[in-house]
Amino acid sequence: MINDLSVSDMVKKFGNFTAVDGVSFDVPAGSFFSILGPSGCGKTTLLRMIAGFEEPTSGDIEIRGGSMLGVPPNKRPVNLVFQHLALFPMMNVAENIAFGLKRRGVGAAEIKKKTETILERVGLPGYGEKQINQLSGGQKQRVAIARCLVLEPSVLLLDEPLGALDLKLREQMKVELKKLQAKVGTTFIYITHDQSEALVMSDRVAVMNKGRFEQVGSPQELYGKPATPFVAQFVGDNNKWSGKVVESDSEKVILLTDEGYTFQTKPHGACVSGGRADLFLRPEAMLIEPKDRTGLNVFEVTVKSILFDGANSRLLTVTKEDHELIVSLPQNRRFDHIEPGNEISVGWHPDSGICFGAE
Ligand code: ADP
Ligand code: MG
Repeated sequence: MINDLSVSDMVKKFGNFTAVDGVSFDVPAGSFFSILGPSGCGKTTLLRMIAGFEEPTSGDIEIRGGSMLGVPPNKRPVNLVFQHLALFPMMNVAENIAFGLKRRGVGAAEIKKKTETILERVGLPGYGEKQINQLSGGQKQRVAIARCLVLEPSVLLLDEPLGALDLKLREQMKVELKKLQAKVGTTFIYITHDQSEALVMSDRVAVMNKGRFEQVGSPQELYGKPATPFVAQFVGDNNKWSGKVVESDSEKVILLTDEGYTFQTKPHGACVSGGRADLFLRPEAMLIEPKDRTGLNVFEVTVKSILFDGANSRLLTVTKEDHELIVSLPQNRRFDHIEPGNEISVGWHPDSGICFGAE
């Protein structure tokens, strides 16, 4: 398989502080790869090293098999879309897009052709003469991306490009960006702190924390088989219990939670008998008032509030020990009677728990 991008053992130190701490990954040609992590974990620093704006302390970057060490940014086959877009407000759309081509000495006829083609590709045919301030937020976004794509980079780097948009537009642009990437076939490296953006758009996602990658995998893998407690908490919603491991083998773990519940589940990370462990449960893994309790962990909770969100409605509940839990509310009329203050039972199957040994 050809990789468009290979990063090996990348380190970046600012004085004594290590912003990127030994990151390695490969991105196959034509894929959508996201780097997901909280603010300050080192995403932008990593991207700037790939773009050539930041010198790595150590490590190597290869694009299509060629090392980029010592290659200046404008000589690298990559382009970077900034969060704040950095469009030129005094130029119209076509001039913005033509800017990089002109600097490369491309002829006027060729520029015109390429500009029209790329505007069509990003869904803005005939927009060349428009001024930047006549465009909506989403259209500006597309111009910023078109301006990079017209230079035909091997890899397009995107640094939280939807960050400045309002929620509704962001939802729309997620789907559009994914479609656009599939259509143009350019490799996208997309960084975000928003797990829903990463899950929706990406072929693969790297979860970054404190300068390191904790897991690289498909959105399904990250959600279903998180490799670390950090990934379990950061990707998707999760409820957490902490407690003591009463019994543990390769098949099952029996956990006595700090609130006094005894649960049976499956081990993910190593759980040692007598040691401590953290148990994570997805909101949709909890079954409200299960009829058949066989083999389930069942406990009672009080409904605190109903978080109405259409198809994804949830209940905020508390146990008798004030442990807050989020439970998905199935789209089923049977639950219409549930109100704040109600006591309900909740059950979950041992296979749906994600349990990690803790320090
Ligand atoms: P992210 O993009 O994930 O929010 P950054 O890569 O911007 O994170 O920053 C990672 C860490 O490195 C932060 O703690 C930040 O303060 C630090 N950092 C970034 N650039 C510099 C710099 N030029 N000098 C010193 N520290 C920096
Ligand atoms: Mg950043």
